[in-house]
Amino acid sequence: MIPAPPPLRRAATQVFSGTLAASALVTAYTGLPSAAIPLALGAAGVFLTPTLLKNCAWYGPVLKTFPTSDREVWLTIDDGPDPRQTPYVLDVLAKHGAKATFFAIGSKILQSPELAQRIVAEGHSLQNHTFLHPERSFWAAGPSRARKELETCSRAIFQTTGATATQFRAPVGFANPFVHAAAAEQKLTFIGWSSTGYDGVAHNPEAVLEKIMASVRPGGIILCHDSHLGSLVPKGRANTLDGLLVRLKFEGYECSVPLNLEALSI
Ligand SMILES: [Zn+2]
Repeated sequence: MIPAPPPLRRAATQVFSGTLAASALVTAYTGLPSAAIPLALGAAGVFLTPTLLKNCAWYGPVLKTFPTSDREVWLTIDDGPDPRQTPYVLDVLAKHGAKATFFAIGSKILQSPELAQRIVAEGHSLQNHTFLHPERSFWAAGPSRARKELETCSRAIFQTTGATATQFRAPVGFANPFVHAAAAEQKLTFIGWSSTGYDGVAHNPEAVLEKIMASVRPGGIILCHDSHLGSLVPKGRANTLDGLLVRLKFEGYECSVPLNLEALSI
């Protein structure tokens, strides 16, 4: 059976969860609050389950691996640029001759335009990771907020570097139907990941390396970060990345940025 296309799935899920929510309200006002609770929970569950499953492709396609016949992986680095980490990360990438995609935050690009320009000048890809990275609330973004977060980040990338964003990664990998619709409208390919060391909010170098290396495969998309954390020394991200690139090389992997992903049917 051919699955329904994403716009239809987005619409059907919204109609179904909206109907459940409306039924809950009617039931509550007609004097049956205990019967309204399961209906309200059902409405929330229908809408939120695909939103809060990381990299879930129910509301729209999400690329979690890329096709390759070579022993290569795609290194992606999120949440920068940050002057306390990104320059050293770029130095390490240059030392290893590795290329990466930086899913950058638009407001940080405007704070450190020289770093965004350096990322592009050194042959890396600079892509959209929202303007404000509202990780605690973006799952609940409505259509206009979703559209604005993506648009303003792409504009920051273009105005600072002249590069056009063609890819998007959702903060924490959570995306509701409005975020998927905004990415599709703006012709941004939605990129997930297949390996991560969970280093966004805590950074234990050994644990990061072990987790990534345990799941790495040819065509895998590796998620790292170049944001600063209070517990990190300025070269903390770069040191861990250095270790990761040594391990990848030892196991025969090259880091490359796949081209023409937008042409893939995902
Ligand atoms: Zn992020």
